[in-house]
Amino acid sequence: SSVSLPEFNIALLGVLGVGKSALTVKYLTRRYIMEYDPYMEDTYTKHECIDAQEIIVRIMDTYDREGSDPERYLRWADGIIVVYSITSRQSYEEARNYICSVLNYQNKTTREIPLALVGNKMDLERYRQVSKAEGSALATEQECLFYETTAAEDYQCVETVFHGIVKEIQREKERQ
Ligand code: GDP
Ligand code: MG
Repeated sequence: SSVSLPEFNIALLGVLGVGKSALTVKYLTRRYIMEYDPYMEDTYTKHECIDAQEIIVRIMDTYDREGSDPERYLRWADGIIVVYSITSRQSYEEARNYICSVLNYQNKTTREIPLALVGNKMDLERYRQVSKAEGSALATEQECLFYETTAAEDYQCVETVFHGIVKEIQREKERQ
């Protein structure tokens, strides 16, 4: 068919091990797979129906190696999901840096890129190092969406993140 569906490019950023690949696979397949090649980077496509509208979601599951150009992701993306693990304070601190790099890019290009902050691994409550309030405070400060998720258990919370960012991108497109 020649009908082209609206496309939404979403990139996941965050330090190694926070669960970017696990969240991506969960969203695509509803399954949790424990082991991934940590250095793999790929782009995936999912057909979706959100609010009775058929769309195509493209997801870039990144691996931010030393010296890689983060702007490569930002140029491509309509929306960004910054992931940290609730079990790693360092990954939360790094999330702030990722958010700042997105905002810097935005200011430079005057293009609004909807942003979601995600605290993953909420099933590991016993090992929590970052409170929900801290995650929420960072998101409020940076004016982005905020969610806590687990790729290991509930599918719904993962879907909510992707649908949330898609809707934010739709709103942004309507403003233009
Ligand atoms: P990435 O480097 O950000 O892509 O992280 P991965 O998706 O490869 O996940 C790193 C490790 O954390 C893997 O062993 C995953 O099985 C595990 N993991 C990812 N998400 C979760 C989660 O929500 N809960 C738990 N318990 N483990 C997770
Ligand atoms: Mg990965």
